Amino acid sequence: MTFPSYRDRYLPAMTPRRIEALPDKEWAPVILATGAIEQHGPHLPVAVDALMGQVWLSLAIARLPAGASCYVAPPITIGKSNEHTGFPGTLMISRDTLRSQILAVARQVHAWGFRSLAVINTHGGNVPVLIPTLREIRALYGLRAGVLPSRPVPDLSEHEATFGIHAGELETSWVMAAALQHTDPARAVCEYPAKLGDPGEVRPVAAPALVAWISRDISKSGVMGDATAATAEKGRRWLELGAEGYAEAIAEACRAGRPQPPP
Ligand SMILES: [Zn+2]
Repeated sequence: MTFPSYRDRYLPAMTPRRIEALPDKEWAPVILATGAIEQHGPHLPVAVDALMGQVWLSLAIARLPAGASCYVAPPITIGKSNEHTGFPGTLMISRDTLRSQILAVARQVHAWGFRSLAVINTHGGNVPVLIPTLREIRALYGLRAGVLPSRPVPDLSEHEATFGIHAGELETSWVMAAALQHTDPARAVCEYPAKLGDPGEVRPVAAPALVAWISRDISKSGVMGDATAATAEKGRRWLELGAEGYAEAIAEACRAGRPQPPP
């Protein structure tokens, strides 16, 4: 795979004069990828989440429909990964640092004249920081600010769809399709953190009885899901579907940001 396909939309690659002259800053979103560098089991590189942000951008922007536009901010590659404490290879920043970094990007792109910020987030641990920070951005700078939604993935087993939450069939398949040379599929394992019908301590983020688990509590290998079921072929199919979904979400952000004609 050759990427990034979005080189000509990457803000750090532009001169100040070019950024100043961009004609669609009122409505074209600036896309900020928020990822993570953290253990992803014995078979995947630790940069999976940071890498996937670049893969999605590269694939989605190549599929943007006519009339849509966007620009790309430098990614935040290290995320809030304290849940992966104790595994080698995990880097992390605090929630306060993550919030400050996102706010700093928003403040500056607003100062450059952009009016819309869209986050493509590839790490679940960032979500509890992201949502209130985007609301803060709206309140502080008046930017439209949101998260690009990911598409639901078809053909996963119920167990994988419910508890394949980290380095399982889905993520492993994506990375095998996008960067096989950085994987070690022979070391893939199947380890679910909970049984169907008995979630134990693994509850959805919004559940009332949330237990603050860290990965060590619920997985020996660091895998939560069935990585042995992954294939590059599934990965290619799911990357295609996911990229279409993100391209549509970017186009929707463009529509939402355009000034409405008077009634
Ligand atoms: Zn991941």
